[in-house]
Amino acid sequence: MGLTEIQQRITAEEARVGRTLGSTRLIAVSKVQPLDRVVAVLDQGHRLFGENRVQEAAGKWPELRETYAGTEVHLLGPLQTNKVAQAFEVFDAIHALDRDKLARKIADQAQSSGFCPKLFVQINTGDEPQKAGVALGDTDSFVANCRAMDLPVEGLMCIPPVDEAPSLHFALLRKLAERNGLTGLSMGMSGDFEEAVALGATHVRVGSAIFGARVSP
Ligand SMILES: *Cc1c(COP(=O)(O)O)cnc(C)c1O
Repeated sequence: MGLTEIQQRITAEEARVGRTLGSTRLIAVSKVQPLDRVVAVLDQGHRLFGENRVQEAAGKWPELRETYAGTEVHLLGPLQTNKVAQAFEVFDAIHALDRDKLARKIADQAQSSGFCPKLFVQINTGDEPQKAGVALGDTDSFVANCRAMDLPVEGLMCIPPVDEAPSLHFALLRKLAERNGLTGLSMGMSGDFEEAVALGATHVRVGSAIFGARVSP
């Protein structure tokens, strides 16, 4: 599909549901993509990217950022506590804050760094046993704990179960965010970003629909 078409479809959906045009931020998910595809999207003027792994991002973004001013990179995948310090050097936002130990580690790092990336709490909206994310019923207490640690929680993030209608999960995430006074909603991927926009996503995470299919490493 490509960047331009995705941007157009987001704008069309914002218009259709009466949202402010441009109020959805498009995160181009560049994980595992060959560098030439990433550079092509940078050359089109796009400046917001998402990655899944600290190591992979650390190997490519510091240099690209020097060439392409204003670039923002968000971590979308799971974060190990021993990678938090490095994550602070590479990322502007972390979308998969999902456990107390990680929250504490981020709070410690923020103390010593003097800044903190923006944070999204990942919620396991389908309560799937194998999936990352805070259990649905623990959402309010987890967010409260993060606030008690002065963590800059901007919003919530979810990855709906593959076999269920994503809209139900997007609507649920929105309700949870509203209940907790959070404005950020990181939801929607290549297959369902329009539904996410319709339900108020502030950040959609689109990979393959922009860059083409990922070549498995
Ligand atoms: C890979 C990934 C995406 C993008 O997936 P596509 O289906 O390629 O759009 C979005 N969010 C997360 C957390 C991912 O890991």
